[in-house]
Amino acid sequence: MRDLSHDRALLSINSMTVKAWSLVELLEGCARAGISAISPWRDIVQACGAERAGKLIRAHGMTVTGLCRGGMFPDADEAGRRAALDDNRRAVDEAAAIGAQCLVLVVGALPKGSRDLDGARMQVREALHALLPYARQARVPLAIEPLHPMYAADRACVNTLAQANDLCDELGDGAGVAVDTYHVWWDPDLAREIARAGKRILAYHVNDWLLPTTDLLLDRGMMGDGVIDLRAIRAMVEAAGYRGHCEVEILSGNNWWKRDPDEVVRICIERHQTVV
Ligand code: ZN
Repeated sequence: MRDLSHDRALLSINSMTVKAWSLVELLEGCARAGISAISPWRDIVQACGAERAGKLIRAHGMTVTGLCRGGMFPDADEAGRRAALDDNRRAVDEAAAIGAQCLVLVVGALPKGSRDLDGARMQVREALHALLPYARQARVPLAIEPLHPMYAADRACVNTLAQANDLCDELGDGAGVAVDTYHVWWDPDLAREIARAGKRILAYHVNDWLLPTTDLLLDRGMMGDGVIDLRAIRAMVEAAGYRGHCEVEILSGNNWWKRDPDEVVRICIERHQTVV
């Protein structure tokens, strides 16, 4: 297992962790802290303009560990599904423009008013097949991120790494997975499915599961503040061959988003070196 205790070269900051920052502020804030990798969400890339964002990122010498996020494929009607695919092609273009190592996919869930979870999963599968040739051509790998089952109705109906691996088996080149500790830590098959994912692991997201969790979306914890055995999961991911960054992704409306982003980054570095 790699030693992170003295180094921040493998640390990436996801823009949702420091939500108050624009892309320029994220680049400058990370540079100030000696961090050389980021993962922006599309909102701050679009606010800047993808081409200009790419130039700024290259000027700062930053690695982009992923663009968050594409997906949200299922829809109640054909026009909606087509619009979602179009938007995902734009996300692929944006990922290419900023040199992202992958486009992270939160695949989407039940269409409004639907109870057909199997149908939603089928729609996701078909959309991935439809998007993949475009992503391959742009050389942007698609990272399917399984989300915790509590999001099966509204965010992602791919809820286990096994499901994501099955999709990757079917899709082949250009498709992989994003492993996020918050979403997968509870899974009794985790070790087996991480080993099975192997080189298909395109991104590794870290954070923690708080007790109690007070909000389904916006109460993620800082690494070390919750119950996830982060060292054990990183050992699995590295044993599977992953050599990339640990990307800190913390959506925290009542705590970390209210703090000074420079302080948040400083604590991310400290926890990266001590508990990740
Ligand atoms: Zn994530």
